[in-house]
Amino acid sequence: MATETHSLKLNTSKKFEIIDITSQINDLINIDNGIISIFSKHSTSAIVVNENEPGLLKDFESCLGNLISEEFNYFHDRIDNNASSHLKSFLLSSSECLPIKNSKLDLGTWQSVFFVELDGPRSNRSISLTIIGD
Ligand code: ZN
Repeated sequence: MATETHSLKLNTSKKFEIIDITSQINDLINIDNGIISIFSKHSTSAIVVNENEPGLLKDFESCLGNLISEEFNYFHDRIDNNASSHLKSFLLSSSECLPIKNSKLDLGTWQSVFFVELDGPRSNRSISLTIIGD
């Protein structure tokens, strides 16, 4: 049984951005079979597994925007003007734990792994990858 750790760094260019990181993760996997934890080390971002279809990604953005208003008088905005970004992150997840098979993520046909930027643009977003297997 082996353990590997990697850090994936991303620069984002928009307030809301969905970045497909599937191939970057696959390139870092050096074991045949096991599991991987993909963890975003930020409280205004998320890791999501879903379909990379451009219309759906726009729907995802508008759905989150409808659920979490930008206009509400949030307490957190008194000290840091990004409460809506934190609240969107709160509804999603900071990590995914996924299977690895034949040195690749064992995803379904229509599944990709996304980093979701909720408070960009930011430089040096850090995603921690921990891989266990053999
Ligand atoms: Zn904040």
